[in-house]
Formats: sequence, C-alpha cells, structure tokens
Amino acid sequence: MDQPAMAKKVELLIIGAGPGGYVAAIYAAKKGIKVTLVEKEELGGTCLNVGCIPTKSLVKSSEVCHYVKQSSLFGIHTGTDLQVDMKQIIRRKDEIKEKLISGIDYLMEKNNIEVIRGQASFLSAHEVSVKGQNHYHISANDIIVATGSKISKVNIPGIDLPFVMNSTDALACTELPKSITIIGGGVIGMELAFIYRYLGVEVHVVEFMSRLLTMVDSDISEEIKHSAEQAGIHIHTNSKVVKVQRADEGQAIVTYEDSQGEHLLVSEKVLVAIGREPNLDGLEVERAGIQLNERGRGITVNEHMRTNVDHIYAIGDVTNIMQLAHVASHQGTTAIDGILGESGGMHYTAIPNVIFTSPEIASVGLLEDECKQQGMDYSVSKVSFASNGKALTMNEPEGFIKLIKDNRSQRIVGGAIIGPDASSLISSLTLAIANGLTEKQIMHTVFAHPTTGEVIHEAAFGFSIGALHQA
Ligand code: FAD
Repeated sequence: MDQPAMAKKVELLIIGAGPGGYVAAIYAAKKGIKVTLVEKEELGGTCLNVGCIPTKSLVKSSEVCHYVKQSSLFGIHTGTDLQVDMKQIIRRKDEIKEKLISGIDYLMEKNNIEVIRGQASFLSAHEVSVKGQNHYHISANDIIVATGSKISKVNIPGIDLPFVMNSTDALACTELPKSITIIGGGVIGMELAFIYRYLGVEVHVVEFMSRLLTMVDSDISEEIKHSAEQAGIHIHTNSKVVKVQRADEGQAIVTYEDSQGEHLLVSEKVLVAIGREPNLDGLEVERAGIQLNERGRGITVNEHMRTNVDHIYAIGDVTNIMQLAHVASHQGTTAIDGILGESGGMHYTAIPNVIFTSPEIASVGLLEDECKQQGMDYSVSKVSFASNGKALTMNEPEGFIKLIKDNRSQRIVGGAIIGPDASSLISSLTLAIANGLTEKQIMHTVFAHPTTGEVIHEAAFGFSIGALHQA
C-alpha cells in the first residue's frame, strides 16, 4: 500500500544529481539559496557512474597495456608475459567512482544541501511527488529538471540476445571477450573500440554513415580511421546492421549490408553504441505543462535554461542541446543566475568537445564544414605533430592541429586537434575562441618548450609566414 505523502515546501528543488543537477545545487547553495536535490539512483549521474569517468578509467588501463607492449622501444624490457586482469580493471574503475561519489556526498553536506533519494514526478507545475524510502509532496519556488538521458532503444532483430551489451553493461563486464562487434562509430563506440583493441580484443566497428565521428570535420574522421586501422580495428562504414543472431557454437553473428551486399561478422560479444535520448521517464512533465521540443524529445528552454513555465528550468542532457557533462554543469550555473535575475545566458560558440580515442580528438568553435556551409570568408592553418619535440619523446607523432580564422575579424573561430594531449590542449583554444583572440595575439604569446601546446603557437604562425618548424 502507498505511504501517505508528507507535504514539504522548499526554496529550490533540483531533480537529478548528475553533473547538471549537483553542480547547480552547489552553485545555488554558495549563492545563498536553500536547495533540495532529488536523486533516484547514485549521486554523479550518468557521467560519474556509467559515462565519462568509468570510460576514462578504462581508457587509462588500455593505454597502460598499449605502453607496456611497446616498452622495449623506450628501453624498458618487462620480460614477462602480459596479462590483462579485467576484474582489476573494473575494480579500479569502481574505486575511482566511489571516491568521487563520496566527494559529492561530502560537498552536499558541507553546503547544507538536502538530498532526498527517490523518483520524482510532477503533480502540477508547483508540486512534485518524490517516492523513495519516504513519500513527499514537495512544492517549490523554483524547480530545475536535470534528469539526463537514457540509452536509446534500437530496432534491430536479435538485439536482446544475451551477448549484446550496451555501454553500461560493457563498463561492468569483468570478462574480456576475445572478439567484439561494435554497432555505431560515434564517440562511445570509438572510445570503446580503442579500449578493447588495446586490451588485445579483435574489434569490428560497423557504422551506418559514410564516415566515423560525424561531429568532427572529415579530415579528422579520416585520420582517426587511419589510426584505428593501424591499431588493428576493422572499420566498416556505409554499413547497416540488419540483424544479430546466435551461432550454434554460441557466438554472435552480426549481419550488415553495404553497397556490395550482405556480410556476416562473427564475434563473442556485440556492443550497441547508437545513441542516447532525453530521459523523461516517470517525470509526468505534461502535468506541469512543460513544453517539449518539436520531435517530442527534450525539454525546450531559452538561453537562461528557463522552460515555458516561468519558475521551471531544465538543464543538461534532458534539453537535448549537447550531451556533454561540462555543458550540463554550465547550464546549471546559468539557470541559477537566471533564478537570481543575474544577467548571462548560455552561449554555445566555444564549447569544447573531446573524444578519448587514440590519438585523442578535441574541437571547439566552428567546424570547417560549418564555415563552408555559412559561406564564410575564412582561412585554415594546419600543423602536424610530426615535428613537435614533446610528441616525439612520447612516441606519439601522429595527428595535427587545425585553426580556423575569420578573415574579416582576424579572430580564431574554430579549432580542432587530433593528437597527443588534445583533451588538455583544447582548453587554451577554448579560452582563445571564447575571448575572441586573433592569430597575432596567439603568435605574440609565449608557449613553454618542449610541450605539445607549441603546435597551437605554430598553427598561429601558419596563417601568415608559415609554421616555424615545418618546411
Ligand atoms: P545525468 O548525468 O544523466 O544525470 C541525471 C540524473 O537524474 C541521474 O542520476 C538519474 O538517476 C536522475 N534522475 C532521472 N530521472 C529522475 C527522476 N524522475 N527522479 C529523480 N532522479 C532522476 N560527457 C562528457 O562531457 N565527456 C565524456 O567523456 C563523456 N563520456 C561519456 C561516456 C559514456 C559511456 C556516456 C554514456 C556518456 C558520456 N558523456 C560524456 C555524457 C555525459 O555523461 C552526460 O552528458 C552527462 O552525464 C549529462 O549530465 P546530466 O546532469 O544532464 O544528466
């Protein structure tokens, strides 16, 4: 029998404790707002539990494996047979996750944020039911919806067979398969493809589109395809998976079609990495009159993250604007500024996007394809890592940086890096683009030597006299 609900009145109610919700909660508390945060699962959301952090922990393990395999090149002879202990890899990932979750827990306590465990559903625009160990009817002055995203359902026959995993299953799997077929060559698919390959698994990636990672320019796609193939990953683009079946011996058979006809791939496991969609499950947003976007996917918001209902905001993946943890967090602080009537608003011109493949990929601002489509007068400067001293010491000389300049304003409007340290280097480019720096301002900045960051300096020279270390 349902417990009777306890009535509660709060100042700010945040639903969902992912990087959107919990960061908004801390920021609001620091600004003097009394916050109640509702979470039905673990603090940290997708990002901390089954997303950013777990994948990066596995990326690191796989990179260590890769380094050990090439250690003799660095003059280090290990002498013993290399063994991959998948249980320890997953244990290490879980320990990092637990440490970060307890860190968030501590921050909630220190900032006097009330955390209620339970499933939230709107009863009306002003009242939310939260059902967990206790049952509350909470009314709030302001409400932020930060319920994130969920794995999209895929309509492929055989997709429910036991050897088919999604990214969440893969991050918990303590048995390393001998072979895997990954359906989807997007961010999650490609990150996991490199992880598995570096751990010694035979990997096939089947991608429907004509190229991998369609969110980056085609030259970057080509470069990562080349690196993937060099690492031994089999890439099948322009290929549509039509069914998954179980072979008599128990393995998976993935059938895909391309312009040549039908092909079969046999592997121990299959990983579906096709996409995520806004999570509105059980939230009953219609009872609050919250408008969804045209395709009914995601909550519509303005630049202050306000929905059509004045005191209700939405942030993060549930808005379906950009599925990135740092965007969710920034949207969270923006929503709080909106509630406090402070100016601001979200701008998306300088949002960094990182893909943890090998080499890493990172981009910010406009893509070259977008500049072309907009008919912009622009120039591109491209410099490779091959002549960068630090990259050579790391034995990672592949890849390049590409800067895009608006010829009218002389400002840098886009940048992409595929190469060592791309995930860190992108922060300098983000600062440059967010602050409208010109090529000359970057040229006149001193970059430390020897660092991979010197490629940014070189690329700035590339627009005029040419990169100094390239003929
Ligand atoms: P979420 O993190 O999804 O959090 C939403 C929270 O709301 C969840 O904890 C959920 O339990 C809770 N919730 C939902 N409904 C209710 C309800 N009705 N009542 C109470 N609680 C509810 N992004 C990056 O920027 N970098 C990366 O490297 C990266 N890697 C990723 C790798 C993988 C495998 C995946 C799946 C995602 C990755 N992402 C990455 C994306 C990133 O995880 C998301 O963009 C981010 O978590 C979105 O944050 P959010 O706060 O909007 O939602």
